[in-house]
Amino acid sequence: VKMNGKNNFMIFDPSMNEAIQRKASLQQDLKLAMKNEELELYYQPKFDLELNRYDGMEALIRWNHPVRGFIPPFEFIKIAEESNLIVELGNWILEKSCRFIMEYNQVHHSDYCVSVNVSTIQLLNEDFEKSVLNILEATGLNPDYLELEITETVFMHSMDIAYEKLNFFREKHINIALDDFGTGYSSLTYLKSLPITTVKLDKSFVDDIAYNDISFEVVDNVIQIARSIGLTIVVEGVETKEQLQILKSLRCHKIQGYYFSKPVSDLELPLVLDQYE
Ligand code: C2E
Ligand code: CA
Ligand code: CA
Ligand code: CA
Repeated sequence: VKMNGKNNFMIFDPSMNEAIQRKASLQQDLKLAMKNEELELYYQPKFDLELNRYDGMEALIRWNHPVRGFIPPFEFIKIAEESNLIVELGNWILEKSCRFIMEYNQVHHSDYCVSVNVSTIQLLNEDFEKSVLNILEATGLNPDYLELEITETVFMHSMDIAYEKLNFFREKHINIALDDFGTGYSSLTYLKSLPITTVKLDKSFVDDIAYNDISFEVVDNVIQIARSIGLTIVVEGVETKEQLQILKSLRCHKIQGYYFSKPVSDLELPLVLDQYE
């Protein structure tokens, strides 16, 4: 037990101390990781059920720490957000993704799009729009080939700023996907008013779609409503053929998941994509 100076007692928990230390040291290491090339982007293809082909891929960051090994993205993205390092890291991810897809399409004579996750703090940064435009210019990527994946937390922070920013991107022909749909407070009725092009339905809904009537009903509803208001619907986390067939029968546009492919390195990606060329 320690005194914290205000005549209150704090319980000293060694495991908590360890967690705080890990966080502090990861925060330090993350700054170096970008320079030392410990960070790498993996790509998970997205399959278009109507065209029966892959139409793009999502970039997902990987950190292989020299001492601690693989650090899951949810852990260090959170750390990056808390230290504002997310701005630099986010720009790095965006530039690398845009450059990658630009070169990939040139080399393979393909027309894949890249989807890039954008953290709410990164999106709300006042220089974000400028950074995106600079990156598009530097890489020469046509904005139609870029999709920014955002989460609904951005609308909770500031509806006005979020609308303004997303409308700006829409005017520049950059696609916007609402990620993890269904996990928060987002309702189907407000989807219509958002400046977005795509809805990504969270994995949790598809997990038991083959066995649970309620999950089936929910997915069916989301797909039909998204379609009726002109949004593209992507379902994440599809792992089985059964799930795929159900989603196809519900007229879902696109799916992403281990059934087709896990996220893979840039070297493995052509092998995955070639299967449906
Ligand atoms: P997310 O954007 O929802 O990404 C989907 C996650 O589900 C990825 O995990 C992906 O590998 C995993 N996944 C895809 N298909 C399946 C499947 O069929 N089954 C299962 N069990 N999992 C599947 P990952 O790569 O570990 O990323 C976790 C989260 O970390 C992401 O969730 C995203 O929120 C964040 N993240 C990852 N990369 C980035 C990035 O470059 N920038 C930002 N801001 N966040 C990122
Ligand atoms: Ca995502
Ligand atoms: Ca997601
Ligand atoms: Ca998620």
